[in-house]
Amino acid sequence: MKELQDLAAKLLAEKTVGLVIGWEQGPRGARPAFVADPKDAGRLIFDNRCVHNLAAYLSPRRPHLRGFGRIAVAVKGCDVRAVAGLVRESQLKREDVVLLGVRCGGVHDEPTDAGPLTAENLADRCVGCEVREPPRCDHVLGELPPAPPSRDGRRAGRIAELDALDHAARFAFWRQELSRCVRCNACRQVCPLCTCERCLADKTDPPWIESSPHTRANFAWHATRALHLAGRCVDCGECERACPAGIPLNLIGRKVAAVVERRFGYRTTDDPQVPAPIGAWKPDDGQEFIR
Ligand code: SF4
Ligand code: SF4
Ligand code: SF4
Repeated sequence: MKELQDLAAKLLAEKTVGLVIGWEQGPRGARPAFVADPKDAGRLIFDNRCVHNLAAYLSPRRPHLRGFGRIAVAVKGCDVRAVAGLVRESQLKREDVVLLGVRCGGVHDEPTDAGPLTAENLADRCVGCEVREPPRCDHVLGELPPAPPSRDGRRAGRIAELDALDHAARFAFWRQELSRCVRCNACRQVCPLCTCERCLADKTDPPWIESSPHTRANFAWHATRALHLAGRCVDCGECERACPAGIPLNLIGRKVAAVVERRFGYRTTDDPQVPAPIGAWKPDDGQEFIR
């Protein structure tokens, strides 16, 4: 996208930012790009293969990138919610980043996919998207592409099917799914909201969550991860995409998000001033334990 390339080169040349994070063509499709020299800005692309949520690189877990000073990052409208989450939780100062919003017509499930979007290959998060015009950005780039193909959300249907099962059948489903987890932690590493410098799973002694991949440890890991991301997960789908075992992690994230919305009336938002339930307290809170 020429507009993105030109703006990145300008911001770097005038030293408004020390680094631009965007996407580029890699050997197997689109991939994240890190551009510090204005002469390299021509590498930047944006198309329907740019699925990565680049807000993950703004996390305090990547302090080496903070060494570049102010960073410009290309974001789709849905990615802005992750940036807002980092600002809301004081993990990032909004003035330390320049958001390059790209108008979006939907993305594939995988960055290695190519060709026009269809109802079959469209990422589930794009179904019914309301942020194709990215909000709260410093620059908004590109023409607004046509809306993605319409279809029902596959995950919403799958969650309804699981909800309809009795406890034993639902437990059997998750035992089978989670038994495939190899505890590689890719789901944690790729998540923009997994911001702890040292994860609870790594630092307790004796370990509360065993590191070897067996059913008991895997249930402990996924239950802990789901609860730590309750009201914080932005449904970007990156954890599921990164999982080498093909575990449907977004079924967990979306189910927890639905519970948070029902119990607390909260949905993740791109407004960092709106407090999330996990970090807010009210004197009239209905929960007994808080009084
Ligand atoms: S959810 Fe919306 S902004 Fe995000 S990739 Fe899909 S269409 Fe684009
Ligand atoms: S979808 Fe996965 S990677 Fe994205 S915010 Fe939620 S838990 Fe993190
Ligand atoms: S990415 Fe998949 S296999 Fe790796 S720890 Fe997460 S769920 Fe397990």
